[in-house]
Amino acid sequence: MSDKFHDECGVFGIFGHPEAANMTYLGLYALQHRGQESAGIAASDASEVRVSRAMGYVADTFDSEALAELPGTSAIGHVRYSTAGSSKLLNAQPILIDCAHGQIAVCHNGNLVNARELRDELVRQGSIFQSNSDTEVILHLYARSKAPTVEEAIVESIAQVQGAFSLALLTRDRLVAVRDPHGIRPLAIGRLGDAVVIASETCAMDLIGATYERDVEPGEVLIVSADGIKSIKPFPPAPLAHCIFEHVYFARPDSYVFGKSVNEVRTNLGRVLAREQPVAADVVVPVPDSGVCAAMGYAEESGVPLRMGLIRNHYVGRTFIQPQSSIRHFGVKVKLNPVRSILSGRRVILVDDSIVRGTTSRKIVGMVRQAGAKEVHVRISCPPTISPCFYGVDTPRREDLIAATHSLDQIREFLEADSVAYLSLEGLLSTVSDARGSYCSSCYTGVYPVPVPRDEAHYLQLALKLDNEAVAR
Ligand code: SF4
Repeated sequence: MSDKFHDECGVFGIFGHPEAANMTYLGLYALQHRGQESAGIAASDASEVRVSRAMGYVADTFDSEALAELPGTSAIGHVRYSTAGSSKLLNAQPILIDCAHGQIAVCHNGNLVNARELRDELVRQGSIFQSNSDTEVILHLYARSKAPTVEEAIVESIAQVQGAFSLALLTRDRLVAVRDPHGIRPLAIGRLGDAVVIASETCAMDLIGATYERDVEPGEVLIVSADGIKSIKPFPPAPLAHCIFEHVYFARPDSYVFGKSVNEVRTNLGRVLAREQPVAADVVVPVPDSGVCAAMGYAEESGVPLRMGLIRNHYVGRTFIQPQSSIRHFGVKVKLNPVRSILSGRRVILVDDSIVRGTTSRKIVGMVRQAGAKEVHVRISCPPTISPCFYGVDTPRREDLIAATHSLDQIREFLEADSVAYLSLEGLLSTVSDARGSYCSSCYTGVYPVPVPRDEAHYLQLALKLDNEAVAR
């Protein structure tokens, strides 16, 4: 079940609410799927910015006492899955500093592709880093800026970084939201009464009763203060590159990202997959939870009935320790259990959103067969994943991606399935009506919209073996 691309991070921010820290806590709760390693909140009462961070789930990290120590009417929060920088409290966010421009806290979703380069230069010039997260680079650049105003210093520092960044920044008297010019990671803005809310996904707004207004635009800097909202676009425009994987897997289906309903897009992925890759069968079975929306679309389009032939145990946390066991497919069985009455004697279309290494898919196919399925046809609602991500998603090494090293027939053999078929890239892009090339699909193409310096691979600990032609420079 861990054989997936890992979610990146989630950010949240609110300005002008008497319970800013409480609202942020709830917002992070809704964004928990975007990162489970650490959580943190910074809040300002206009005289001081205070921060609280800890390793673990949001619910375990904060209690009412911890939240009471974060007074004020503005706050930002972060849930983190480590992409750059190891998983330690030092790397947890928000990161708070005090410098010549005053206090500032930052939360970052994404990954800076030139962080290593900038960091080396800053260290040469005497900067002392406290973490090994790429985000800290932004704060060093900010602290060194000679710009006369906070706003200008923020813009000057961010203009020097490249890659994927959706940022929430908090000073004593303002909340700032920034999205990189490519718009790689999502960031939405909404309202809760008079308060302004920003969040990686709109599901965080739903929970607190806020209304989604629009996305922070690619390259936009939004400054929210007692004077209202000011929007500037200080960076040169760049080709759009929204992460298509947000729609395929990362985002919650009840969210809107990049202005589109994730549920709608994901269900359409299944519909298109059914048109492109039909097969005679008796039931469509989703791999829960990730394959559910696509399986619904597949069943609807194909007319083959949808059945929940695999049941997921929702109470298996990350702390589950696998005891020594000789039970076959034990790791997967702890999380999924087949429903024999649905699977036995049936030709099954097993729908999932992706295959990364293939190891878990193989176990699931085996489990469905053991439950008596006559045939198992695997259908994947995205194209073969052949390249790693540099923009804020934790991916295995390229040689570990089964589709990068195996032919379709070899994948079928490995999974021990009767057939395996993927959605085409055109089919995928058709679901987001992407005629303008505004989506990043590098993990399916190996062509990167934001050039990736060669030594970044080392920095990101991906140890990649990129082909020369795979990196568009
Ligand atoms: S490489 Fe894949 S996961 Fe990374 S930003 Fe592009 S589409 Fe998203």
